[in-house]
Amino acid sequence: MARLRSLVTGYRRFRETGWAQQRERWTNLAQGQSPKVMVIACSDSRVDPTRIFDTDPGELFIVRNIAALVPPFEGDGGRHGVAAAVEFAVTQLEVEEILVLGHGSCAGCAAALNQRFAGTVPGDGGSMSRWLQILDVASDAVRARHPGALDRAAYADMEHVAVQASLANLRTFPWLAERERRGKVKLHGGFFAIDDGVFHLLDEATDRFEPA
Ligand SMILES: [Zn+2]
Repeated sequence: MARLRSLVTGYRRFRETGWAQQRERWTNLAQGQSPKVMVIACSDSRVDPTRIFDTDPGELFIVRNIAALVPPFEGDGGRHGVAAAVEFAVTQLEVEEILVLGHGSCAGCAAALNQRFAGTVPGDGGSMSRWLQILDVASDAVRARHPGALDRAAYADMEHVAVQASLANLRTFPWLAERERRGKVKLHGGFFAIDDGVFHLLDEATDRFEPA
């Protein structure tokens, strides 16, 4: 597993190959970026959008956090990192599509479902608990659908529903909902199942995730 020393070794490889061989690309990128797609993904080390979608630098505008969540719109003057990233992507970079990318074996979604950090204080799980409250309504619904002990199906349900919750929350941003209505930006839900490496796209007409 990588430590800083091996990161520097990797960086040197990158300088010799990825950077030197694509020098023209980097020279162009130094002038600015114009990605067409924003991805909202989980911080999970196994779910790197640039790997999954085999993209080059400059192609994806990405924000990552625990469980790939978007909080609902809050016009309260608070310091909202996801809102700022979405606003920058849509109004300044004019990305045409936003993909919320959920994934299998998501520890954040699991904690939202089993309430593992409920009642803890910051430094002991409290910050995660507070963040995962974004999924409270969704996790209540999943527990109601899966009475009894939480099994694999319940956790998978939670991972899918979390993507839909973030899409719904994106649509609470009035300026974004308006742009979606006008067809200026498209919102998508996706899911990457780590174990079999299959990427699924959400069909919002059927609420089903289908292999892409
Ligand atoms: Zn995750």
